[in-house]
Amino acid sequence: MPTDIEIARAAKPRPIADVAAGLGIPAEAVFAYGPHKAKIALPWLTGLDRPQGKLVLVTAISPTPAGEGKTTTTVGLGDALNRIGKKAVICLREPSLGPCFGMKGGAAGGGHAQVIPMEEINLHFTGDFAAIAAANNLLAAMVDNHIYWGNALDIDARRVTWRRVVDMNDRALRGIVSSLGGIANGFPREDGFDIVVASEVMAIFCLATDLDDLVARLGRIVVAETRDGEPVTAKDLKADGAMAVLLKDALAPNLVQTLEGNPAFVHGGPFANIAHGCNSVAATRAGLKLGDYVVTEAGFGADLGAEKFFDIKCRKAGLRPDAAVVVATVRALKMHGGVARGDLGSEDAAAVTRGAVNLARHLQNVKRYGVPVVVAINRFAADTEAEIRAVEAAAEAEGTTAIVCTHFADGGKGAEALAEAVVGLADSGAADFAPLYPDGMRLLDKISTVAVSLYGASEVVADKAIRDRLARFEAAGHGDLPVCMAKTQYSFSADPALMGAPSNHAVPIREVRLSAGAGFIVVICGTIMTMPGLPRRPAAEAIRLDADGNVEGLF
Ligand code: ADP
Ligand code: MG
Repeated sequence: MPTDIEIARAAKPRPIADVAAGLGIPAEAVFAYGPHKAKIALPWLTGLDRPQGKLVLVTAISPTPAGEGKTTTTVGLGDALNRIGKKAVICLREPSLGPCFGMKGGAAGGGHAQVIPMEEINLHFTGDFAAIAAANNLLAAMVDNHIYWGNALDIDARRVTWRRVVDMNDRALRGIVSSLGGIANGFPREDGFDIVVASEVMAIFCLATDLDDLVARLGRIVVAETRDGEPVTAKDLKADGAMAVLLKDALAPNLVQTLEGNPAFVHGGPFANIAHGCNSVAATRAGLKLGDYVVTEAGFGADLGAEKFFDIKCRKAGLRPDAAVVVATVRALKMHGGVARGDLGSEDAAAVTRGAVNLARHLQNVKRYGVPVVVAINRFAADTEAEIRAVEAAAEAEGTTAIVCTHFADGGKGAEALAEAVVGLADSGAADFAPLYPDGMRLLDKISTVAVSLYGASEVVADKAIRDRLARFEAAGHGDLPVCMAKTQYSFSADPALMGAPSNHAVPIREVRLSAGAGFIVVICGTIMTMPGLPRRPAAEAIRLDADGNVEGLF
C-alpha cells in the first residue's frame, strides 16, 4: 500500500469554493488560503439561523503504541455518511508542528481516510498556531515589561506562572532563566516554554463561543500572584484587547476536504491532558449549522477525551451529543491483554478477549453520559477472523454493536455499515445527555467522581496543600468550574503500565492549577509533559523536498 503522503498527493482535490458551496456557503464568506483551504467568515456563520445537525463523537479505547485510529475513523465515517446520502461535516483538531518532526507523524488521518492538503494541514496551515503563539507571547512580554517599569501591580517575580510558547518539540526550552545580561534586560527569573498546544490561549481559543467571549476569557487568565498571593490577570495588565486582536482572524474555522471531497473543519488543537483536547467550539457549531451530522474527534482514550468533550466542551458550549463511536483495534486490545508489541503479528484471540476489559469499561463510561454508543473495529491487515469475533463478542456482552471498518484500506466505502449504525443511533432520539457531575459540586468531589466512576479508582489522594489550594479556588469564586484531568492516557489509573481495566487504585493528585480563562481547574495526576522533546532519530531527518519541490518523508 502506498504511504499516506503518496495517497494524499495522488488525490484530485476540488476547489475549496466548491466544497464550501456544497454546504451552502456563499463566496463572500469564503476566505481562501490558496486553492484548497479557506477560513469561513465568523459573522456569516453566527448569523445563520438553521436547525442544528446531529453531533457524533469519535473516541477510543486507551491508546497503546499499536495505534487506534480515531482521526482515521472520524474521516472514514464522515466520508461514509456522505456516501449513504447524508450531509455530514467532519470536525478535527489542527496538528501541531512539533510531533510532525518528532515521532508521531502527521495528524490528518491515514491511508484512504485523510483530510487534504495533508502537508499544508500538518505544516503551518492557515497560521492559527502562529496567532495563538503571538497572543500568548505578547502576554508574557507584558508581564516582564510590567515588572521592569516599576511593577505597579506588585507582581511577585517568583510567582509568575505564565510561560512562553513555541510550536516545536524542544526540550532545551523547558526550563530557562530569562532577562539575563544586565539591568537593561529586566529582572532575571526562572522561566520556561511550553509547546503552543499546551497554552491556555489554545484552550480559550477552542472554547470561546464568539469574539466577546474570547475577550472576556483572555482577560480572566491568571498570569502571576502578587507578593500578598493575590491573582494578577491579563486584564489587570491590559493585555486582553491586543491578544484578541491577534486572534480575531484565526477564530474563523478552517475548511478543507477529505480525499473523497467531503467538507472538514480543522480548527484549534489543544492538548488532551492539561487542556480538553477537542477542536474549536466555533468549528463544531459551524458544522452543526451547515450539516445534518457532525463527526468530531476527542484526543486520547474515552476516559480523557470523551470525558472532557462531555464535561467541559459540551457542558460549557451547550452542545448535546447524539451518538458516540468508540474505536478499538485488535492490535491494541491484544496489548491490553498482555501481548508485547513485538508479538502482535501472531493470532491471539484469547488476548483480545482479556484486553477487551478496557473496551468494556470505556463503553460503560460513555453510557453514563446518556449517549448511545457503537464500537468501530478499525481493521488492520493482519487481524484474523477469530480476533475480530472476540471484539464483537466483548462489545455484545456490553449490549453494544461492534462493526468492522476498512476505511483505512477502502475509504468511505469501508465504513458504510458504521455510518448506517451511527445514523440509527443518532436519529433514534435515544440520547439523553447529561454531564457526569453538576457545576455546584465541590471541586475535590468532582475529581473523585471522575476517578471513582470512570477510572475505577477507590480513592483520590490529595495532601493538605492541594486541598487548601482547591478551597482557595472555591473561595475566589471558581468552584463551579469543571475539572480538567491531566492523567496518563495509557491507563485508567495514574500508572501508565497498568493496562486493561485496573480497579481499586488510588489516583494521586500532584498539583492543581487554575485556568480561569479556559474555565477549568487542571488536576495533574503524575508527570505531564507540556514541552515534548525530539526522539533520538527525529522524523525531521527524513523530511525533505524532492526535485519538484514536493514535501517528502511526512507520514
Ligand atoms: P489517533 O487519532 O487515534 O491518534 P490516527 O487516526 O491518527 O489515530 O492513526 C494513527 C496512525 O495509525 C496513523 O499513522 C494511521 O495512518 C495509522 N492507522 C490507522 N488505522 C490504520 C489501519 N486500519 N491500518 C494501518 N494503519 C492505520
Ligand atoms: Mg487523532
